[in-house]
Amino acid sequence: MSEKFQPDRSFLVQKFARINFGQFHVVGYSVAGEETVVQIPELNVCFDIGRAPYFSLTSDFVCITHSHMDHLAGLGYYLSQRAFQGMKPGTVLIPRELERPVDALLRCWRDVERQGTPFKLVPMTAGQMYEVRRDFGIRCFGTHHGGASLGYSLVSVREKLKPELMGTPGPELVKMRNQGIEIQYRVEVPLVAYLGDTTLGNVFDQPDVQNAQILITETTFFDPGHKTKAKAGRHLHLDHLVEILPRLKNEYIVIGHVSRRTGIRRARHLLRKRIGEEQMKRILFLMDLDDSKPAGEVEDLAPPPPENAE
Ligand SMILES: [Zn+2]
Ligand SMILES: [Zn+2]
Repeated sequence: MSEKFQPDRSFLVQKFARINFGQFHVVGYSVAGEETVVQIPELNVCFDIGRAPYFSLTSDFVCITHSHMDHLAGLGYYLSQRAFQGMKPGTVLIPRELERPVDALLRCWRDVERQGTPFKLVPMTAGQMYEVRRDFGIRCFGTHHGGASLGYSLVSVREKLKPELMGTPGPELVKMRNQGIEIQYRVEVPLVAYLGDTTLGNVFDQPDVQNAQILITETTFFDPGHKTKAKAGRHLHLDHLVEILPRLKNEYIVIGHVSRRTGIRRARHLLRKRIGEEQMKRILFLMDLDDSKPAGEVEDLAPPPPENAE
C-alpha cells in the first residue's frame, strides 16, 4: 500500500473528564448540543446519561434533568447493557411530566430488542426527596430551560443528639425515646448539586444549590455576541454566571455544557478576565482536559456546527 493512503489508526477518540475532589470524583463528558453525562461514582449516581458511555453503566441511579437528546439518548442502552451484564435494574429519576413518554419509549425498546429489559422510573416533582438510604437522599428542584426540567442534589442525612441532651446518660436517653420524646434532630448536608440545562432564575436561590460542597452547572455561552443564543436556548451566558457567583457558597463549582463555538480555554480566559484569579480558584471546567486546545478538536476535522446546534 502506498504511504499516502495509510489508514488512520484512530479517529476522534472520545476523551472523558475525571476530577478528583478527594471525598469523591466527578467523571463525565459535557459539550452543548452533543452529549452530557456526569457521574459521581462514589455516590452511585449519574446525572443525565448522554450516549451512555461505558463508565455510566456502573451507577445504579440515574437522574434525568430534561428531555433533550444530548442528555437522554443513552437511557435505553444503559438499561439494556446492565440487564445483559447481569447487573440489577437501573433506577431512573425523571421529571414527572416525562414519565409517560419515556415509559412508552423503554417499552418500545423491549419490543424492538426482544429482551424484557427491567427498569424503574421514579417520577419526581420539584422539592421532592427520594430516599436512597436512611443517610442519603436525592432531592430535586425546578430549573429554567422551557418544558419540564429539574436539577438534583445529593444529600447526606444524619441524625444528631439534641445539644441540650448532651451528657445525658444512655439509659435515660433510651427511656426518653421509649416515652416518645424526640431526642435527635436531622442534619442535611448537600454534597453535590447538578443543574442540567438552565438559564438564570430562582434555582440559584435554592439552599441546596448555594450550599452544596460541589455545584455542577452549565454555562453554555461566553462570547459577548452569544447573548441572544443563550436567551433563545434558555441557557446561561457568562454575564449570568458573573451575576450569580457572589450568591454561591460552594467549595467548588464545576462548569459544563460549554458550546464548541467558544472552546474551553477561551471560555476560561473570558471568565478569568471578568472575575479575577482569586475567584477562579474554586472554579473548574469539566472538559478542560490536559490537551484541550484553544478551539474544540472537532473544528479541525468537520464543518462548523450549525447555527442552532444547542
Ligand atoms: Zn443540553
Ligand atoms: Zn437542553
